[in-house]
Amino acid sequence: MNNFTIPILMYHSIESVSRSTVMKSLHVSPRKFAFQMWILKALGYKGLSISKLRPYLEGKKTGKVIGITFDDGYQNNLINAAPILRKYNFTATCYLVSRRIGSYNTWDIDKGIPKRPLMNQLEVKEWINFGLDIGAHSQTHTLLEDLSEQEFQDEIFNCKVDLEEMFNISITDFCYPFGRFNETLIDMVKEAGYITATTMIRGRASTQSNKLKLPRIPINYNTLTHLFLAKILTKYEDKR
Ligand SMILES: [Zn+2]
Repeated sequence: MNNFTIPILMYHSIESVSRSTVMKSLHVSPRKFAFQMWILKALGYKGLSISKLRPYLEGKKTGKVIGITFDDGYQNNLINAAPILRKYNFTATCYLVSRRIGSYNTWDIDKGIPKRPLMNQLEVKEWINFGLDIGAHSQTHTLLEDLSEQEFQDEIFNCKVDLEEMFNISITDFCYPFGRFNETLIDMVKEAGYITATTMIRGRASTQSNKLKLPRIPINYNTLTHLFLAKILTKYEDKR
């Protein structure tokens, strides 16, 4: 089996923000996002959600593919990113915080990060109707490592249950809140029935990657075009 590199991009909010915004790195402007998707298309990549990427990660399919993920479920993903993804016939996975749907990024507020609306139930349905996927990002976006076993079990298992009941679709993809995980959490994610889990470990995924700790490539406010290309096409991220 060949060891194909399969980059998985990690986005959060797709919105234009001012330079002085706290944690502006979480935001990519719609213009920049559109240009990045255009670059991928021009390079011959097909942008895929994690579930559509899985056969490639398993070595069952080969091709020039790249994973596209959005953490947290911002409303601006639907407004600003979904139309661009559709334009290029790409799919993507948006990881939702099941008990914060229709609310805002409550977990960021004590860090001075501005409030941003998260998609409500109808908007998530629209996202799904665009042919885009959703995944689980826990119930409340808390630091799972700090919780008791009962609590983190609820966050992991019941997020899946919440989303499956709300949207009547099977949820197979998890994303660790704050990218934090340990062996106990990995076991729990597996036991809950998830097939993949993404982290904030930097690097390009491959057919050799453990599917329950997939590395990703952060794309943020400061990712200029040359860096975007280096992150995808070179070993730039792999040793970080
Ligand atoms: Zn998050």
